[in-house]
Amino acid sequence: MEILPDIEDIRLLENHTYDTLKTGCKECGFKQIIFQAAISVERENKVFFLSVECPACDAEYKEIMAMRDIND
Ligand SMILES: [Zn+2]
Repeated sequence: MEILPDIEDIRLLENHTYDTLKTGCKECGFKQIIFQAAISVERENKVFFLSVECPACDAEYKEIMAMRDIND
């Protein structure tokens, strides 16, 4: 079963992505981070996360932004 992101998912990603961009790299605070937003679908919920790469300090990390119940 494939679950496509709905409008609420997109909005949530946008909001959290914006917050992350304002904060920048969590290691060094560099603002021009490279990131990829993704949704991982688990049994009961969707997990929204960002994969972040910092070109300034070479930090790489995943940041979980939010979770939503799949039946929301
Ligand atoms: Zn950094």
